[in-house]
Amino acid sequence: MAQIITIANQKGGVGKTTTAINVAASLAYNKKKVLLIDLDPQGNSTTSSGIDKNKIDYGTYDVLIGEKTILEALKTTKYNYDVLSSNRELAGAEIELLDLEQREYRLQKALAELPENKYQYIIIDCPPSLSIVTLNGLLSAQSVVIPVQCEYFALEGLSDLLGTISQLAKKYHAKLSVNVVRVMFDTRTTLQQQVSNELTTHLNKQLLETVIPRNVRLAEAPSHGMPAIFFDKAAKGSKAYMQLAQEIVKRLKAK
Ligand code: ATP
Ligand code: MG
Repeated sequence: MAQIITIANQKGGVGKTTTAINVAASLAYNKKKVLLIDLDPQGNSTTSSGIDKNKIDYGTYDVLIGEKTILEALKTTKYNYDVLSSNRELAGAEIELLDLEQREYRLQKALAELPENKYQYIIIDCPPSLSIVTLNGLLSAQSVVIPVQCEYFALEGLSDLLGTISQLAKKYHAKLSVNVVRVMFDTRTTLQQQVSNELTTHLNKQLLETVIPRNVRLAEAPSHGMPAIFFDKAAKGSKAYMQLAQEIVKRLKAK
């Protein structure tokens, strides 16, 4: 069975998509069979994988509302992984899902239709909200990775989010391991160093050791429709994401 990892944080612009694409691309680069699911109507994971979000026929939306099977909606990319793509159409799913049965489990059900050995890893990129669509992402996964920036309010937001996730897990009887990754890190900033130390103390084993640095190549790659791993694999940011993917895999294996 595939390992399913959801990248979530209800805060916007914290590095979810960058993490999702580059973890997916790192695994694909290492010859793993990978599916990246774009659960965000912004479609940034879709675009960053070299797919024109304005030209997709079927994607996440069609699968969630049951119009298409997941196999009918998958797209291949040039980067050795597949994508379940999305665009603004997905914004409508929130309302349409309200009327559907088992609305929190639509993605989980769709993933269960995949042939047993089609993918080893499924990476899910969530929108910046705790919506039904995000809930579908959380309830499909064995593991959640939360990217955080080491800023003043990070700890507060993070403990809210961790609390919410553990409440959801309890309510829906989901077994979710939760890991936090420090992203866009600037070692020269004392405050970031302090917040990072606090995270280490508070989170202990839930904190991933790999730290993703702030690196302009990570921000440039999407405009070329490429994951940074393929755009510039020697960049500091790409190397860090390669290492992060390995660390995540190791943790999943240790479970
Ligand atoms: P949203 O909540 O809108 O979906 P997000 O959490 O997915 O946002 P990203 O889109 O990954 O966040 O990142 C926000 C911005 O920061 C993007 O412009 C991205 O290119 C840039 N960025 C992300 N990580 C890094 C990094 N390590 N170094 C430099 N820039 C980064
Ligand atoms: Mg995003």
